[in-house]
Amino acid sequence: MKRFLAKKYQKLENLEAGISQNLNKYDDLINLSIGDPDVTTPEIILTKAYEDTLNGHTKYTDSRGYKELREAICGFYKKRYQINVNDDEILVTTAATVAMYLSLSAVLDEGDEVILIEPYFFPYSTQIEMNGGVVVPFKTSMEDDYKIDFTKLEKIITDKTKAIIINSPNNPTGVTYSKEDLEKIRDFVVKHDLLVIADDIYTSFSFKDEFIPISSLEGMFERCITINSFSKNLIMTGLRIGNIVAPKEIINVIKDINDHVVYSAPSFSQRAALHGLNNFDEIEKDIQKIFKERLEYIYKRIDEIEFLDITKTYASFYAFPSIKKTGMKSEAFVKKLLEEAHILAIPGVFFGESGDDNFRITCTVSIEVLKEAFDRIEKLKF
Ligand code: PLP
Repeated sequence: MKRFLAKKYQKLENLEAGISQNLNKYDDLINLSIGDPDVTTPEIILTKAYEDTLNGHTKYTDSRGYKELREAICGFYKKRYQINVNDDEILVTTAATVAMYLSLSAVLDEGDEVILIEPYFFPYSTQIEMNGGVVVPFKTSMEDDYKIDFTKLEKIITDKTKAIIINSPNNPTGVTYSKEDLEKIRDFVVKHDLLVIADDIYTSFSFKDEFIPISSLEGMFERCITINSFSKNLIMTGLRIGNIVAPKEIINVIKDINDHVVYSAPSFSQRAALHGLNNFDEIEKDIQKIFKERLEYIYKRIDEIEFLDITKTYASFYAFPSIKKTGMKSEAFVKKLLEEAHILAIPGVFFGESGDDNFRITCTVSIEVLKEAFDRIEKLKF
């Protein structure tokens, strides 16, 4: 059978599959591996979207998304970030994962290099390769608060470097770039004439530092593709809906690709996104309260465990504790965690080599479940 498969996919590594095969291993398993909240989509979103569906919103939509939704996205950008986004600079898509794929497809030629700041969300590297690009990882470390060393970054630039992907707040570390960090990135990309692809999907989960979109910095909009998703901010992971904001010429190409792949995003999910945006501030307040409390609880418990360390970033819904003191590397540690504590987590190495002294857990479960998980973790012996 394998002979029928495209050669480029015969070696495709599916990291996620390796994790999910352990899901049914123990009756008392605690799953801290997934970025999918236990909370359901806010009722107001679902009720209003359902009403719209009964009223006939069940058809293909404009392939760039409902006009009302595009207007709401423009309004959101204006109100929150004081950015004037034009209607033709928006494309509604089937969530961020697809948005990233479409964006890479639109900009990469065979052999183009894309810089990935480690630790990074692992599908990026596969998607770059699927689109003929070359991944150029760049390490950052917990000791340096995951700051980018621009002198070192200069050294990996070649005449093939096309783009850099940034993700703030970051999955898995929670690092949120400050205005100063973003200005340094801007100076760097302007100097080397690079495109920035900004994966801005955890914007509501920045509990200490203010989230600033890099596209809002002077001179950045024209070299920036911004990916937004309704998955996390509005707890709509299963509805698969997001959007891209980029200069018109780029949006037009992404739209053409999207037209030939899916045409339009699901109408129900678009209506849900619209109602989510219309009620964003109230929904955000409720969601932030839940996740901030959980993240603080995780930090507190990590502080009490002698073999773990953490940089408290107060953002995203992940924690990326260091296991350096255990003397173990991440895959062995996560295996021990599974076998001895029945807790499923993700090895840090999945987010790039420099993550091999860490593991990722999520606060997508209740405080009661987190308590039980940490009661088990603290009993581990090394
Ligand atoms: N980007 C990052 C950084 C993520 O962590 C995730 C999901 O965990 C995604 C993108 C995918 O989001 P979506 O559900 O919008 O495809």
